Amino acid sequence: MIADDPLQNVLYIDLSRNRFHVERRPDLFEKHLGGAGVAIELLHETCPAGMDPFAPEAPIILTTGPLVGLMPLASKAVAMFKSPHTGNLGESHAGGRTAVAIREAGYGAIVIQGASSLPVYLVISNGSVKFRDATTLWGMRHATTAARVIRENESGAGVRTILRIGRAGENRVTYACVKTETYRTFGRLGLGAVFGSKKLKAVVIAGKHSLPVADRRAYRRIYDEVYQAAIASPLMKKYHDLGTASNVLPLHEIGGLPVRNLQQTRLDDPRPISGEGLAEGYLGRRLACAHCPVGCIHIAALREPYVNEPYFYKTTMISYDYEPIYALGTMLNITDPAGFLRLLDVVESWGLDAMSTGVVLAWATEALERGLISTRETLGLNLAWGDSATYILAVRNIVEQPNDFYRALARGVEYASSVYGGQEFALAFGGNEMPGYHTGPAAHLGWLLGLRHSHLDNAGYSIDQKPTAPPPTPETLVDALMKEEQWRQVLSSLVICFFARGIYTPEVVQAALEVAGFPRDAAALTQIGESIYRRKYAFKVREGFDVEHLRLPKRIFETPSPLGMLDEAAMQRALAYAKARLEG
Ligand code: SF4
Repeated sequence: MIADDPLQNVLYIDLSRNRFHVERRPDLFEKHLGGAGVAIELLHETCPAGMDPFAPEAPIILTTGPLVGLMPLASKAVAMFKSPHTGNLGESHAGGRTAVAIREAGYGAIVIQGASSLPVYLVISNGSVKFRDATTLWGMRHATTAARVIRENESGAGVRTILRIGRAGENRVTYACVKTETYRTFGRLGLGAVFGSKKLKAVVIAGKHSLPVADRRAYRRIYDEVYQAAIASPLMKKYHDLGTASNVLPLHEIGGLPVRNLQQTRLDDPRPISGEGLAEGYLGRRLACAHCPVGCIHIAALREPYVNEPYFYKTTMISYDYEPIYALGTMLNITDPAGFLRLLDVVESWGLDAMSTGVVLAWATEALERGLISTRETLGLNLAWGDSATYILAVRNIVEQPNDFYRALARGVEYASSVYGGQEFALAFGGNEMPGYHTGPAAHLGWLLGLRHSHLDNAGYSIDQKPTAPPPTPETLVDALMKEEQWRQVLSSLVICFFARGIYTPEVVQAALEVAGFPRDAAALTQIGESIYRRKYAFKVREGFDVEHLRLPKRIFETPSPLGMLDEAAMQRALAYAKARLEG
């Protein structure tokens, strides 16, 4: 590692005492690179076994990586914490400017502990931390409004990031998110609720540190190679043109698109809320994360008239991609794009994870249909497929939690179904609501076994869609999922966007690390990936995770996938094999 690289600095912040200090930790970054690798070590150090995710001392860890600010598409910041949603490992990644802001502020990682007695926001810049009163921002409905006020009051425009929560985080909805740069999100597993438990409204990070490279000429060469590969790649062009929303039509076509709480896998007419339909009718602009030449972030412009004001319109800019379209669109049978965008905007404004919210609403709709609950529980709301206006009212109730039913919904579908019944159609895996792919066994196994129970852990849906001869056995499927997840630990330690995983081959990673002052050969990278995977798994086991206790929702065996009906016995065989491998 280059000796004076600020990446080695870990900033520790204590919200209870309004104090901070910095420690040099070359040991962490030499061995684990950065990102997820460093974060899991810091989590082991600061989060003792059995700690309540809402305890004042529960840590929030933010990390960046050695290629950030140097290489294209090394653009993701990692957040690690104990998840209030699953009670286990919490890990979430976000693009935007956060990763580069942390690094240019002079740190490789930030650890926030303690809890403030009054609402507070942090300003991290120029080697110091300011603790600002956020009392007037607490309770603001729209997370963007709070950020706008902070933007007006703080310096650093152009070189800063602003992480903030909405009302859902303040009220500790266990799947509340943290927004950054308005259109990027630490979405999954409830980081926003942990912010809320600490009375932490926002974190501003800004800096202008220059970044060292070991060999300028070699740096130029590898930078150009990655940049050219990114702009020439047909896959990246697809992400730029339509974004991940381009998945809607192909998934509908093959019958892998979850519709009506996965009672169906095709819509009558998917076109209006497909990537193509939204681009034609609503696309207002595209954005990119810092240091990304692709720009896959798609922003819809929803133009609506004011009530009783002819010829007066307001335009709302709303970021969309495939997962929100699935969760708040197809899963709820909402095919009207304006209705979908309105619901998405409300979910984002309150600061909820869109995926969990959609699955929770889908479960509640089916539970109402089946008579497990009545309008007494829903406080008069007749939740019905396709009715976006009623869903918007339900979302408000999830955030404000006016009765036991909405308090249960605010803890997710696993908990709500354990109280009200309907576990067979409660689509959570390892306690986390499902992503938008009913493509075959690998997708569902991937969420069950993945360390974050996320589609990003190992992309099982992608394995399902590349049939092999002979077809995979339960054991070879598990092997493939684990191999992919271990390599992804390397990428997420370098905080490389997973969309660029085809560009950042092991050879390119080695060349990039060399110029950044972290030379590693292929064997060392493989070993780092395995080691991070093991350390995360050890944390999960310590907190009670056991493959044997994973719940397989019955619904996935009732609705055909593109590969036919899923075989429960084969899935159980895969889980038994995974358990033996993980414990072997
Ligand atoms: S491809 Fe998209 S998500 Fe990935 S870094 Fe670029 S803009 Fe961000």
